[in-house]
Amino acid sequence: MDVSIALFTADLRLRDNPVLRGALDAARRVVPLFVVDQGVAEAGFVVPNRAAFLADALAQLDEGLRERGGRLVVRHGDAVAETARVAAETGAGEVHLAAGVSAFANRREQRLRAALERDGRALRVHDAVLTVVPPGALVPADRDHFAVFTPYFRRWDRERVRDPLPVPRSVPVPEVRSEPLPTGASLAKGTPSPGLPRGGEARGRRRLSAWTGRHLDDYHTAADDLAADATSRLSPFLHFGCLSPTDVLYQARRRGGPGADDFVRQLAWRDFHHQVLAARPAAGHRDYRPRNDRWRHDQAAFDAWRAGRTGYPVVDAAMRQLRHEGWMHGRARLLVASFLTKTLYLDWRAGARHFLDLLVDGDMANNQLNWQWAAGTGTDTRPGRVLNPLTQARRFDAAGDYVRRWVPELAGIRGRAVHQPWRLPEAERPDYPPPLVDLADGARRFHAARDRA
Ligand code: FAD
Repeated sequence: MDVSIALFTADLRLRDNPVLRGALDAARRVVPLFVVDQGVAEAGFVVPNRAAFLADALAQLDEGLRERGGRLVVRHGDAVAETARVAAETGAGEVHLAAGVSAFANRREQRLRAALERDGRALRVHDAVLTVVPPGALVPADRDHFAVFTPYFRRWDRERVRDPLPVPRSVPVPEVRSEPLPTGASLAKGTPSPGLPRGGEARGRRRLSAWTGRHLDDYHTAADDLAADATSRLSPFLHFGCLSPTDVLYQARRRGGPGADDFVRQLAWRDFHHQVLAARPAAGHRDYRPRNDRWRHDQAAFDAWRAGRTGYPVVDAAMRQLRHEGWMHGRARLLVASFLTKTLYLDWRAGARHFLDLLVDGDMANNQLNWQWAAGTGTDTRPGRVLNPLTQARRFDAAGDYVRRWVPELAGIRGRAVHQPWRLPEAERPDYPPPLVDLADGARRFHAARDRA
């Protein structure tokens, strides 16, 4: 075959990319194509933080392709129509694409297959590009997906995984029109968070090797320490596919040890949520396990949570970190989500939407299903537990440094007193809101609602 197309989606990388490898193996020349899809924008999914990271990722992908004699071809419009058009313009016989998991990706795949087949072309879909193990590859005896993580992990951990594919030496690209690379500002209106990380494969690889060298061995003891900030921060690179999860897994397993074991387990959570969403696409917006919740409406409480002004310092620190960096520590995500859905008893969908508006790694599978996990409507096997932000703060921010970093009003309070500023003598109390809710009242309200259900 003379020409094939590698249609990039959430796999914006050259290393370990079966889509690019497949297209290169099939033809003499390859069109590395990215379509800035109107549909994604119309679905409200393109926000300034992810747009900026995406623009970085595309720029680095283009750079990498140029170093190998090619370049990235960019089009705007409907991904299906534009891909079919590029195929017609270049006479491509095949389009290679990563299998997706969301309802949106499935529809795109079906429409693309139909459009290409009408013109006598083929769609080749590659599994295990966005996840280590493809959704649906592991199933229990009695159902179409795993609903509980531990048995899933036992199977997942035993799966044979390919060695990462090398970066192709050269990528010959035919003559074809390309639009300019998008910028963050051209993709989404609004200002990104000031502390947003930069995207791209080269930056992801640097982060992976620096973090692995410095922190992986201690991951099992340091990951939950909010102030230590010792987790990998690889989530946005994995979300956009600047790094391959298979490659990240490979690197961790090669190093080995208890830190690597715990880290590998986290990577499995990512696959786990993807296989739940693939089997139950509605779980992106509907309760996975309905509990007949009649969520409260309390705009003032929701606004206080969003603004990081609940009066609970560790919650507020986390919410301000999210706004500032477009990212939040994983342990903190769990406790602010529990606070919103259980202590305040507000709908998880509102919290998840706020996260998606800001998170640079914001992702249908991981975000929505982690929110459901925290709300007790998802796959948590202990859906009734309520995380107490004070206990959590004492355990995971023992010295109070995380709070002091993100809540400047409290920066002058020494030690763990920072977690309960309302207990300071009145004269020493900072200009900071009192607690929005009594924790015991909040927990009682939640349990009463769930018991009624
Ligand atoms: P590390 O601790 O270094 O873990 C390594 C990788 O494992 C992560 O990059 C991530 O890809 C994966 N991982 C870790 N924990 C989880 C988990 N619980 N579920 C799925 N994958 C996991 N993650 C997202 O990628 N996108 C989201 O939109 C997202 N929303 C979340 C919302 C809530 C309410 C909660 C509780 C968690 C959410 N997570 C999400 C999962 C997790 O918090 C982040 O992936 C992690 O904190 C990212 O930081 P890291 O890369 O330093 O993680």
